[in-house]
Amino acid sequence: MTPLEALRTRIERLPRIRLVNLPTPLEEMARLTKILDGPQLWIKRDDCTGLAFGGNKERKMEFVMADALNNGADVVVTTGAVQSNHARSTAAAARKLGLKAILVLRGKEPQELDGNLLLDNLFGAEVRFVSVGWQEIDSILEETARELEGQGHTPYVIPGGASYPQGAIAYVQASMELYEQARERKLKIDCIVHAAGSGGTQAGLVLGNKALKTEIQVLGVSVKPDAKWLAERTAQISNETAKLIGLEEPISLEDVSLTDEYVGEGYGILSKEAREALRLVAQTEGILLDPVYTGKAMSGLIGMIKKKHFNKDNNVVFLHTGGTPALFAYKWQLRS
Ligand SMILES: *Cc1c(COP(=O)(O)O)cnc(C)c1O
Repeated sequence: MTPLEALRTRIERLPRIRLVNLPTPLEEMARLTKILDGPQLWIKRDDCTGLAFGGNKERKMEFVMADALNNGADVVVTTGAVQSNHARSTAAAARKLGLKAILVLRGKEPQELDGNLLLDNLFGAEVRFVSVGWQEIDSILEETARELEGQGHTPYVIPGGASYPQGAIAYVQASMELYEQARERKLKIDCIVHAAGSGGTQAGLVLGNKALKTEIQVLGVSVKPDAKWLAERTAQISNETAKLIGLEEPISLEDVSLTDEYVGEGYGILSKEAREALRLVAQTEGILLDPVYTGKAMSGLIGMIKKKHFNKDNNVVFLHTGGTPALFAYKWQLRS
């Protein structure tokens, strides 16, 4: 058996519900490549998963929701920032399966119902705003689950960003998908660059590429400060995910390449570089990035190209993880 067949067998054993359009396209970014005068640039369009404006959280939902249903859930509970893509994707997937969604969002209720928050509302999710630090959120989710049980419901709690094994497994699957797309085109991918937030996407990609024995570097561009903490968390999720599919290979901290050099002033605060990157990709490729994640990841890719991090004959795949509904909540900062 080839590594691909072996990995596929392991993943096919897991419960999964088809919710999104896969495989997502792998496209060339010819004009951006020319302008930046660096490596060959490609884009993997996980913004085109098609459920509710797309994104990496939607890909995760196939395995996450299957686990929820297997556990008899009639309501899912999750958390995120006010403009959380994960919360919106959860609400959409839940509705498609006839479940209720309760979204515990960290922050103050904004005056305007905009971006993802508008979509949460259209999906009829119950949104609760809480002003607490992320350290306290797990206990609030547990309390919410107890409250629902008291009312006779069967809740299923999805951790923030669905960054736990059932979410990360979707990016092991995405590694197989990309592997096959590259093979069809006789393309040798050297590096995947993507936005990293809660670690599940990178955990899956690192594990998948290790299991497939590719030599692809998976480079996460963190959207929050403290890359060291996130790298440790990512390795941990990776190892828990390996266990879920019965893989022995341990993932160590050295397997996780992560930079927090492109965070700017903080999570959710648009940097000048991200705004310029977003406008450049829109105007060269006709592709929209988002202000919180993919715009910053692209500013990282551009920054690394400028620092000669890549050779000209390298093939670099930018993973578009979605997030575009947030564009409308940042309209004032995005204008030139
Ligand atoms: C959540 C998110 C990410 C980060 O993915 P993690 O698995 O949380 O690291 C990247 N891009 C977008 C648009 C997201 O919503």
